[in-house]
Amino acid sequence: MTTVNTQSWNSIGEIATAVRSCTKCALHSGRTNAVPGSGSDKAGILIIGEGPGFNEDEQGLPFVGRSGKLLDELLAAVPIAREDVFITNVVKCRPPNNRDPLPDEVIACRPFLERQMELLDPRVIVTLGRHSLLRFYPEGKISEDHGKILEWEGRVLFPLYHPAAGLRNPAIKRDLQADVLRLPEAIKESLRLSEPTAKLPDPQADQPTQQAAEAPETPETNVAEAQLSEPLLTSETQDKKETKQGERQLGMF
Ligand code: URA
Ligand code: SF4
Repeated sequence: MTTVNTQSWNSIGEIATAVRSCTKCALHSGRTNAVPGSGSDKAGILIIGEGPGFNEDEQGLPFVGRSGKLLDELLAAVPIAREDVFITNVVKCRPPNNRDPLPDEVIACRPFLERQMELLDPRVIVTLGRHSLLRFYPEGKISEDHGKILEWEGRVLFPLYHPAAGLRNPAIKRDLQADVLRLPEAIKESLRLSEPTAKLPDPQADQPTQQAAEAPETPETNVAEAQLSEPLLTSETQDKKETKQGERQLGMF
C-alpha cells in the first residue's frame, strides 16, 4: 500500500513538483525529465495518454512528438485548443524503448493521476489507448469501446485509440479522426450529467447516450447513428439552445 499522502498536494503545480522528484518506481532512473502534464488547471477535459516517449522525456511535456502532432490535428478538427484541456499520462516517466508501462509502475504512479483528477474535477475524461482505458474500465476493450460516450463516476468517459496506433495504422487513424468529432457530443452529455435536475422535454430520448452505446439489442448499424443523432433530433428548440451552450462551453473548457 502506498504511504504517499496525496492530500498534501494542494494544486496541480504541487503535484508536478512531487512528480519531478519522485523515485517510487524504476522508471525514475531512466528519465531525463518527468512529465507531470500540461494545460489549464481549469480545464473541463482531461486527456490521459500512456506514458512519455522520447520527445516528451526530452522536453518534460506531454505529447510533443509525432503522436502529439496527430493529437493536435485531431483536436483542431473539433475544434478544441490545447489550452482548453489538461493532458497527462498514466505513468509520468518514460518507459525504456517506449515499452508498455508495467503493472507495478502504473500502481506506483497512480496517486498522481488520482490527485490530478480530484483537483481538476474534469467533466470529460478522454483516454488515449488501452492502458489509459483500463484505468477506468478494467474490462474495457479499446477496439470495441473507442469513440463511445460512456459514464464513469458521474463524468463522461470518452475512450479513443492512441495516436501512436493511428500513426502505425491508417484504418485506426481514420477511426480516430471520426471518433474525435463526437467530442462536442461528449461535452454536451457531460453537461447533462452534471445537472441531474435539469429536465429535458424529450420523452423519445429514453436512452442515455452511454446506455445506447452498450445496449446489445440495438441493431448494430444504428448504434452510432442513434448516439449521434438522438439528442439533436428529439427536442429541436431545447437542443438548439443546448448546442449553442455546448459550443460556448468548448471555449470555456
Ligand atoms: N504517448 C503517450 O502516451 N504520451 C505522451 O505524452 C506521448 C506519447
Ligand atoms: Fe514516480 Fe510515476 Fe515516475 Fe514512477 S513513473 S518514478 S511513480 S513519477
